[in-house]
Amino acid sequence: MATDYRGRQDLTPEQDFICRLQGTEPPFTGRWLHQKGEGVYACVGCGAALFDSSAKFDSGCGWPSFWRALADSCLRELRDTSHGMVRTEVRCAACDAHLGHVFPDGPQPTGLRYCINSLALDFLAAVKGKSLAAAAIAKDGPATR
Ligand SMILES: [Zn+2]
Repeated sequence: MATDYRGRQDLTPEQDFICRLQGTEPPFTGRWLHQKGEGVYACVGCGAALFDSSAKFDSGCGWPSFWRALADSCLRELRDTSHGMVRTEVRCAACDAHLGHVFPDGPQPTGLRYCINSLALDFLAAVKGKSLAAAAIAKDGPATR
């Protein structure tokens, strides 16, 4: 099932492959895999804030992993039966960019593992004393547009 991607059109070919063509970056190659700083991870297609660094954990799977989204409404989940597997695909609810998949083997309290391509995410480092999550949610899109 192709995405109905409607985010920014100037993605790199690598980002386009993930976000619009539902590709997957090779494991252990993503730029955010070992990112441990405080901040918010936002959709590369539209700038919507999707995950908080406090929900990131090292799952060992080779992709950035989160045990919850900033809000359920951030994400759209679809049943994905490609590659001979039944998985739950995760897309950005705002622009329909493919992000990754969610699996039911994450840590408590959610028991979920959002396995997300680094290429689908921007990282916005937190500014001390400011709630960056709230600021990122409030804005409509990336500042670079
Ligand atoms: Zn988006």
